[in-house]
Amino acid sequence: MAFKLNNPPYAVDNTPLYHVDLEEGVLGKALNNGSILMSKDVKDPIQYKEVLAHELGHMQQIKSGALNYDDNNVYYKGETYSRKNMKEGSDKLPWEDYANKFAEKIT
Ligand SMILES: [Zn+2]
Repeated sequence: MAFKLNNPPYAVDNTPLYHVDLEEGVLGKALNNGSILMSKDVKDPIQYKEVLAHELGHMQQIKSGALNYDDNNVYYKGETYSRKNMKEGSDKLPWEDYANKFAEKIT
């Protein structure tokens, strides 16, 4: 993967990358508009790479059409998952499992 980390907004391939304040405990987010948000709290370069790789895994899922979401639901491979009682980010969720494996592969 080509990482271009020069001037903000950062671009990772064709994915805009923004460094922002995220809610407590959230280190990164892949948005369904094709952007990735990274928490300003991620300072450690190894952790930074891991979080970015994980979110790039989600971006691949979003861009391929496998993953989408709105305020109420997550849509993954044709199934609808209510976000109401979801433990967001849990590695038991199939799209998280995918992103973790993707990240392992590229880091
Ligand atoms: Zn994730």
